[in-house]
Amino acid sequence: MEKRIFVYKNDTEMSQAIEKTLRKKLLKSDLKVYDEYDSENTDLIICIGGDGTLLRLVQEYNFPKTPIVGINTGHLGFFQEIIPEKIDDFIFMYNQEKYSIQSLNGVTAFIKTDTSTDKHIALNEITVKGLMTHPVHLDISINNSFIERFSGDGICVASPAGSTAYNYALGGSIVDPRLNLLQVTPIAPMQNVAYRSFTSSILLPSNDKLSVIPCSNNDRTLTIIYDGMMTEYTNVNEITIQLSRKKINLIRFDDYQFWEKVKSKFL
Ligand code: NAP
Ligand code: MN
Repeated sequence: MEKRIFVYKNDTEMSQAIEKTLRKKLLKSDLKVYDEYDSENTDLIICIGGDGTLLRLVQEYNFPKTPIVGINTGHLGFFQEIIPEKIDDFIFMYNQEKYSIQSLNGVTAFIKTDTSTDKHIALNEITVKGLMTHPVHLDISINNSFIERFSGDGICVASPAGSTAYNYALGGSIVDPRLNLLQVTPIAPMQNVAYRSFTSSILLPSNDKLSVIPCSNNDRTLTIIYDGMMTEYTNVNEITIQLSRKKINLIRFDDYQFWEKVKSKFL
């Protein structure tokens, strides 16, 4: 049966060139490219670019349920399953249905200020920081019980999918995405007689709710970064962060193994 394909790409020359090649190859199969994404009828989204391109796609289409497969023309391409040389293999395996789906949950943040409540969902992570270089002092609770007063640059709350991104650079752990959990990693925590907070990541079960409350008026101006996109807030009262029920479905071929991917991209 004919399948409906939507192609999303970044604007590099390489991605444009790969898209042309891809379209030619798809024409010869039963895979038809449509110019609009249709959440009901699109069978597959092909994302040409790097991980950043996939993050943009996920934000733009609000965590589409449609299976996504990535062709890597970026730098790292941790989400991306196919290299441009393997497009023929991909079409063959897709038509033969020789693939599995890797579901990846996002992270949701509610930002409550004096005047509004805003919501962001990130695939990788929600990062809470001060303004510019200011350290922040934040009271952190889990499921309404107070855990610690954090002082430092901020905190990074990562999904399993985001564990290999900013979280990893901060010294956090790489999480096999079959474990559904939230990882809270401190960013430059201050450790002295005045301030004391956890220096390692902490892991929370998938249903737990993290609450972040600014300790003083100075801490109520905060920067929230979701998948690399930044918004500044003033007069923040509380930020709550949870694993999202929204998820994306990545296509992985039968030879995909998470730790092989980690080895090939990190060691
Ligand atoms: P970018 O400037 O291209 O840099 C981010 C790097 O992280 C890229 O190499 C990107 O891969 C890679 N990356 C993104 N998501 C990943 C994942 N889930 N696992 C492993 N690597 C991943 O920015 P971007 O492409 O828009 O990505 C935004 C992300 O950058 C944020 O969500 C945050 O995690 C990350 N970040 C990292 C640092 C750091 O490591 N110190 C600092 C700030 C932000 P591609 O090259 O394929 O795009
Ligand atoms: Mn990138």
